[in-house]
Amino acid sequence: MNRAGWKAILRTLWQTSMVGAWTLVTVQAATVRIDTSRAPALKAWADSTETIAREWYPRLGNLLATTQDHPLPNVSIRVNPDFKGVAAASWSSIQISANWISQHPEDSRGAVIHELVHVVQAYPPNKVGWLTEGIADYLRYAIYEALPLSEFPRPEKPQGYLDSYKVTAGFLFWLECDRAPGIVRQLNTALRLGEYQETLFSERTGRGLNDLWSDYLTALRPLPNLPRDPQIWRHAKGSFEHKTNGNWTEFENGKPVWNFIEMSRTPQYIEIVDGTRNLRLRLASPMVQLISKSGWSTLYTGEWSAPSSTKPPAN
Ligand SMILES: [Zn+2]
Repeated sequence: MNRAGWKAILRTLWQTSMVGAWTLVTVQAATVRIDTSRAPALKAWADSTETIAREWYPRLGNLLATTQDHPLPNVSIRVNPDFKGVAAASWSSIQISANWISQHPEDSRGAVIHELVHVVQAYPPNKVGWLTEGIADYLRYAIYEALPLSEFPRPEKPQGYLDSYKVTAGFLFWLECDRAPGIVRQLNTALRLGEYQETLFSERTGRGLNDLWSDYLTALRPLPNLPRDPQIWRHAKGSFEHKTNGNWTEFENGKPVWNFIEMSRTPQYIEIVDGTRNLRLRLASPMVQLISKSGWSTLYTGEWSAPSSTKPPAN
């Protein structure tokens, strides 16, 4: 064999051994240990929680993976009888209150998941604590606890997303399901790299953060039921009226302008379609909604009115 041949073999051996070493390093999962030496009565709780934490910790790491190399550290959780708060993470060590576990056993595993997310996050200092906590509660409630979106609190106020924790978590959950799938991972990467800017929301959705919050409230607000025999839906400049053949006509300034076919009816809205313009609307109180690529949005505000009424409602 010539020199080049030997070199090729040596290079292959070297690369194979490197791949072997690399595989060994990456398959070695980080562990989670729970120390109950100061709260021995909680040993059974710790054993079952440790199993769950060991399953979920790498998963949380995968869900929030960035392109940057970010190995997970081993985590130690101390059950502390003197701890005044509920639970807190500092780098890879978590403290949790022994009293609180005893009083809220049903919440305590979720609290551990929340703190494990903080270990995974490992963000440099930033001014968006609401988002850091929102991401932790999103993974806890929406993913780990599988809570339905309708059960997240939604305060009816501008910038409610700043309420942090479970409120922000619900907002992120809606964005993931509706306007911006994958945004949590994208936000996490930006926060980890210290590159987060609020414009990330508008770049993804075409809507600013405040507008998205308002869209979220509208989308989740329960609609009132339809009137018993819905015939006319009015807004400031026109109406949608039920025809004798069961379909609908849109009027503007008293003149018929477009025809719609009624597609379906739920207790809250009637869905109508104008095939010539590929337009799908929902007639509901207090708005007509229009479907587009980004989901349902409000086209007009107005309400159902009795056939005898000629006055459009105040808008
Ligand atoms: Zn937290």
